Formats: sequence, C-alpha cells, structure tokens
Amino acid sequence: MRFDIATLFPDMLESYLSQSIMGRSRAKGLFEAECHNIRDYTLDKHRRVDDTPYSERQGMLMQCEPIYRCWQAICNMTRSQPHVIYMSPQGRTLTQQRCRELSQMEHIMILCGHYEGVDQRILDRIVDEEISVGDYVLTGGELPALILVDSVVRLLDGVLAEPDCFEDESHWNGLLEYPQYTRPEVWEGERVPEVLLSGHHANILKWRHQQALINTAKKRPELLTDYPLSDEDLSIITNSVGNFYNKKI
Ligand code: SAM
Repeated sequence: MRFDIATLFPDMLESYLSQSIMGRSRAKGLFEAECHNIRDYTLDKHRRVDDTPYSERQGMLMQCEPIYRCWQAICNMTRSQPHVIYMSPQGRTLTQQRCRELSQMEHIMILCGHYEGVDQRILDRIVDEEISVGDYVLTGGELPALILVDSVVRLLDGVLAEPDCFEDESHWNGLLEYPQYTRPEVWEGERVPEVLLSGHHANILKWRHQQALINTAKKRPELLTDYPLSDEDLSIITNSVGNFYNKKI
C-alpha cells in the first residue's frame, strides 16, 4: 500500500513516519509513504501558496494551482490515480470500520490543509472523500494525516505481530477492550484477576468477553446500541452496571 501526503510541512510528518512501528514497517517495505511539499509546486516567484479569502474573512487560504500540480505529479510519478482524502473538520469522522476499508486500498493521497483551509475548487476537482479526526479544529491537517496513516497501517499484514493484536482491541467488533494486566501478580495489595492466572483458555476468553461488555457499558454505552447483545450479554451488563446502563442507552 502506498500513501502520498501533500503538505506544507513535510518534516512534521517524516519524523513520525520514520520512527517506532511506522518507521520499522516502512523500512521493511510493508507500506510506502512519501511526503510532498506543496510549496515545491507553486509557480509564484516568491513560492507563495496561499492568498486572502474572497469572503472578506481574516486569514489565508491555500490556492488551487500548487495543490493541483502536486496531485498531477503524484499521478504521473506513480502512474496511478490515488484515492484522494482531504483531512478536514467538515469530513466524516474517522472510525475503525473506515480504517479497515481504507487498508484494502492500493494507493491513497492525503491532502493536508493549513491556515483557513483550501480553495473549494481544488476540493471539488480532485478530492474523493473528506475525513475528520473529531469535532474540533486544528491548525493543520498534518496530525490528522498521521492519525489516518497510523490507524490504517497497523492493520496491514506484518505490521503488528499477530492479527489478534488489533482484532481484540477496542472498536474492532463494536466493543471496547477488556482490562489488561501485567506483572507483578500483586501490586500495592491489588491482585490480578484469578482467572487470568488459571491458564484455562476457555474461561479466560469468557472473562474477556464479559469484561469488554462491562467496560463498554460503563464508558461508551451508546456503542452497545449497534452491538448484537445476547440475553446472556444483557444479564452480564445489567448485573454489573445495572441502572447506569439503562440510563445511558
Ligand atoms: N476553516 C476550516 C473550517 O472551518 O472548516 C478549518 C481550517 S483548519 C484551521 C486548517 C486545516 O486543518 C484544515 O484545512 C484541515 O486540513 C485541518 N484540520 C483541522 N481540524 C481538523 C479535523 N478535526 N480533522 C481533520 N483535519 C482537520
């Protein structure tokens, strides 16, 4: 899978993409990512890429031409038409489900806005989809682009040790993850739950499911409205969380 990221601040992205799991996976060729400086594509002699908005608003807006030329260069260089995503607070909020779908794509171009955003005409021309990382506004699309790449890349084959590294995690099957514990068995008088020390695989799986249900009911009860709860699941939730669950749903 390949990402081409169009930004005014490629160094912000490169640093993250060169380290830890992202850096190792990229070095192994499990995915490709190239950051493109939109400023390299301006025809302005002062390398300007923005101008004031016609709406008489304060601030600066990124212009069409440098972004268009950057997109053309990416298409020519890769001989493909990437799926183009504009990171935007106006987009659909990113979900684990969308990350799974995007992880099946071959080639994604991400456009990072900055300042007041981007001239609408380039969005209409090249963008397939707008994605938001939440209902708040950041200064630029660089952090959202990294969130997108990270959350998609960790689903690719070979990036994490085993698929259950993410299949057991929050949001994969509609529930939050169960609580996790590591050594020591007793810390400040608090013991790790007995079942986790039992080595009884079936009981551990059952405990994990029950705890995931309870955790979700306590922290994000609205997620349960889309989860196919069995009668047994319902009674686990009601016994543990009781009225709290009823009130929140
Ligand atoms: N004027 C724009 C609006 O009200 O929709 C916001 C522009 S914002 C200050 C600058 C850039 O940051 C945007 O073009 C976008 O690329 C990025 N950005 C800001 N918040 C974001 C969010 N929640 N999700 C994704 N991208 C975001």
